[in-house]
Parts: sequence; structure tokens; C-alpha cells
Amino acid sequence: MSATSKTSSPQTLDARPCRAVVFDFDGTLARLNIDFVVMRSDVLKLTAQYGLAVEAVCDLPALELIDRARATLAAVDPPRAEAYVAAAHARIMEIELAAARVGELFGGTRKLLVALQKRGIGTAIITRNCLRAVRTVFPDLDQFVDTAISREMTPRVKPHPDHLRTALAALAAPPDGTLMVGDHPLDMQVGREVGAFTVGVLTGSGNCDDLTRAGAQCVLASASDLLDLLDQACPP
Ligand SMILES: [Mg+2]
Repeated sequence: MSATSKTSSPQTLDARPCRAVVFDFDGTLARLNIDFVVMRSDVLKLTAQYGLAVEAVCDLPALELIDRARATLAAVDPPRAEAYVAAAHARIMEIELAAARVGELFGGTRKLLVALQKRGIGTAIITRNCLRAVRTVFPDLDQFVDTAISREMTPRVKPHPDHLRTALAALAAPPDGTLMVGDHPLDMQVGREVGAFTVGVLTGSGNCDDLTRAGAQCVLASASDLLDLLDQACPP
């Protein structure tokens, strides 16, 4: 599949059938209300409390920062490294669950997912969030998506390609028949790396330029606009 051009409005795909759509969650199917600045700041404070120089890791997102710090601590004191990881993940989960309790799906999410089901298109969610938080926002997700792979369910989270490959294996879908839809540049990065068609959406953290620079082949105002895109490519 390929887009005719990069734009913020729906574009046509070529005739290759769409077998699966893999969605990011926060900012794509649900309102993004996790405060990632607070999350990183809290993890950095904890990392400093464990005696590590935070300058070396301060550009990394929270999960990768924890992995890096864990490796450094484990080289000298493995039990202390595990205590650090447990404390850091507990703090992250606390922030995620607090956000989830006041979170909500976008209005068109269930309608979109039902429309994809009716077309026989497989659907998945891949998220760096924890499953408890996702299910707090979307308790009936099993009725709407074929699989949801949170960070605890993959050894390596996106943008590592294994996260998306795990979803494609569960859906038995080929990368070149798959759309990867997300609001963040890393969603575009993982989609391109695996060979999916990448669709950015403007309902979360990334703007059109960010998403396009990260490899978005198409940018839509929202995930719900995907139906227009699919209608143009292969009418129901
Ligand atoms: Mg997102």
C-alpha cells in the first residue's frame, strides 16, 4: 500500500488489500492524558536517588531510561538493580492508572472498530501503557479488537519492531497488508521498520510535521477518518 501524497487529509491507498490495522492506544483510540513529563521527572529523581548520574540517560523516554539504569546498577549490585526497577515501574503504573481513571475513548473509537470487524479486517492495539490502565479506559476491548499487546506482554516495546511483529503474528497478518496507526513519531518508526503502511493521527502528541518526518505515509485528523481512507481503497 502507498499514499499518493503526504497530507493531513485522507488519501487513497493502492489496490493491495488491507488485512489488519494495528493501533496505538493513548492519543489514537483514547484521549491522551498521561503526563509523560512528570513520569520522566519522577523516574529521573528515583534514578538519582540510586546514585546514578542522570545526565547520561536524561534524553531517553522513561521505559528506556529504566532499562539503561538497571543495566548500570546490575553490573555492580543486581539486587539493588531489581529494587530500582520495581520502584520505577510502580511509580509509572501509579501515574498511568491515575490517568486511566479519568481517561476515555474517543467518541468514534468503538464505531471504527466495529466497521473494521464487519470488513473482516483484523485489529490490534500495541501500547507502551500497562494493560490494567488500558482496560480501565476500555473495559470491553475484547469485544472490539482481536488482540491488545501492552508493555508487559512483549519483551521489547515499540519502537522496537518486536512489539508490532508480535501483534502481526497474533493476527496472522503480513506487514505489507497492515496499517500501523498512531499519534506519536515512534508509532511511525515501528511501522516503517516492520514494513507496514503508516498512518499518523493528529489526536495526540505528534503534529503533521513530526509524524511525516518520522515516516508517516499518510496523516489523518483522527483514527475515525480511516474509514474514508479504506472506503476509497476498497469499498465495502
Ligand atoms: Mg500514543
